[in-house]
Amino acid sequence: MSEPVDFIREIVRDDLRTGRFTCVHTRFPPEPNAYLHIGHAQAILLSYGIAQEFGGKFNLRFDDTNPEKESVEYVEAIKRDVRWLGADWEDREFYASDYFEQLYLWAEDLIRKGKAYVCDLSPEELSRQRGQPIRDGDRLITPPGVESPYRNRSVEENLNLFRRMRAGEFPAGSRTLRAKIDMAHPNLNMRDPVLYRIIHVPHHRTGTKWCIYPSYDWAHGQSDSIEGITHSICTLEFENHRPLYDWLLEQLGIHHPRQIEFARLNLTYTVLSKRFLLRLVQEGRVRGWDDPRMPTIAGIRRRGYTPEAIADFVRRIGVSKSESVREIELLEHCVRDDLNKRASRRMAVLEPLKLVITDYPEGKVEEFDAVNNPEDPSYGTRRVPFSRELWIEREDFMEDPPPAFFRLAPGREVRLRYAYLVRCTDVVKDSSGSVVEVHCTYDPSTRGGDAPDGRKVKATLHWVSAAHAIEGEVRLYDRLFTVPNPLDAEEGEDWIKHVNPNSLSVLRGCQLEPSLAGAQPGERFQFERKGYFCVDPDTRPGHPVFNRTVTLRDPWAKVQGRA
Ligand code: ATP
Ligand code: MG
Repeated sequence: MSEPVDFIREIVRDDLRTGRFTCVHTRFPPEPNAYLHIGHAQAILLSYGIAQEFGGKFNLRFDDTNPEKESVEYVEAIKRDVRWLGADWEDREFYASDYFEQLYLWAEDLIRKGKAYVCDLSPEELSRQRGQPIRDGDRLITPPGVESPYRNRSVEENLNLFRRMRAGEFPAGSRTLRAKIDMAHPNLNMRDPVLYRIIHVPHHRTGTKWCIYPSYDWAHGQSDSIEGITHSICTLEFENHRPLYDWLLEQLGIHHPRQIEFARLNLTYTVLSKRFLLRLVQEGRVRGWDDPRMPTIAGIRRRGYTPEAIADFVRRIGVSKSESVREIELLEHCVRDDLNKRASRRMAVLEPLKLVITDYPEGKVEEFDAVNNPEDPSYGTRRVPFSRELWIEREDFMEDPPPAFFRLAPGREVRLRYAYLVRCTDVVKDSSGSVVEVHCTYDPSTRGGDAPDGRKVKATLHWVSAAHAIEGEVRLYDRLFTVPNPLDAEEGEDWIKHVNPNSLSVLRGCQLEPSLAGAQPGERFQFERKGYFCVDPDTRPGHPVFNRTVTLRDPWAKVQGRA
């Protein structure tokens, strides 16, 4: 498949051609205040991919400027996820907090140049004076803001106050350092933005060394510059921060990367925002950040997705300048496609019903060769034991079947995969009238599953020998939300009410073929006819736990047709 040409690559190519940059250096700059989600995966693979493609470098930089929300747990989780995706930052792991001293010195420079001042307005006053867009007919206009009464402090006074801010002389929130730009600028970000705030909270890396912390705008561009980044790729919400990004770098006269924005990823039936995911975790709506229903990279990994499937998804959606919502069916299509090629097939009965072959000798055991992966002969075959009593899927039998049901029913013959054709002769019921056993006879001449006389059966069932089966737990997942766009809530409505209360079903007492004993967390299989499954880390000796990654049925073509 050829790589889609996108506008970002065009810009990079142009910059190399015109000599604006002589090499390519990108970065991924997460704030360690949550786990990463599939949207971040797109950002990571995009920046990493461009570095790779142009023979450049890729940095992982923690944008750790807000100690109130950040933690080492998040740093570690992010590193695990980026590594798993395959974006190798080698030894280029950086922290904005490593630059606090340099950022501070540059702030003093700005003050000396008369381009920054200490402001005593409260956050509320400051935001009020900055102004906000108002509706004028069908247009949004932004009337000029109001200049701060502290705007014309002398350089000496500003330096003195700023140093005392750093020394911890003032309470949290009492003062800020602001760039002195233009309070009438049509772009609100240019109206004397805040560069430093006072926060008396210890930082996970710098401890209590600092009590003033740089804002995103102050830390970000300057960190990019320090690292020699050439192309600083971010999402569209930073587009109107770009003039400020450029202005600050120009004032300082330092290496000036180019910021490029692309539209963030949105996905149906889930939410891709750290804030919302944090709420799902905190309110216990899911079992944690790595719950297999979560769109987090940790959740998706636990669910059984491969990094290759995610890369394929990211490649297929491409990058664009306009925001849209992608279908979750495409993501599922990608993992199905990948697992079809690489998952070993197994037989597992999720909701067991006993099948007894009444004319098969008691105590006899045969072994049949089963193909591990019809897509790839190198996976070989395995031996599957067969005996008189088997487990089949409860839904594969109906006592009184409707016309469209072709599986097992009284009098009907079906194939047991790899084994024999069997015909249902009888059922055993419990006192409440439900079927607890299906009795069949078998045709010994159909060994391997085909009749010598060429007669056909309409169904092939998977099965597990009861005497050899191992028991396990299987977790089936449904959509996390009941509606495609949970955040499109009606006015005053809380999106949380769209959480699907039935997104998890736990099946215990599933009967698995014996070759699944000893399967290790993270191993992936196709359970024939049931979907792709991945061994969960909750697995204990003698108690395997599987997550269903996806079912086998692929609705993607239909979803595309609908669009
Ligand atoms: P917050 O919601 O707290 O602003 P964030 O999701 O933007 O968080 P960051 O840690 O700032 O989190 O994100 C790191 C990078 O990932 C940013 O460059 C951001 O543009 C990018 N990113 C975030 N969300 C998405 C998304 N849905 N699709 C693509 N890229 C994203
Ligand atoms: Mg952000």
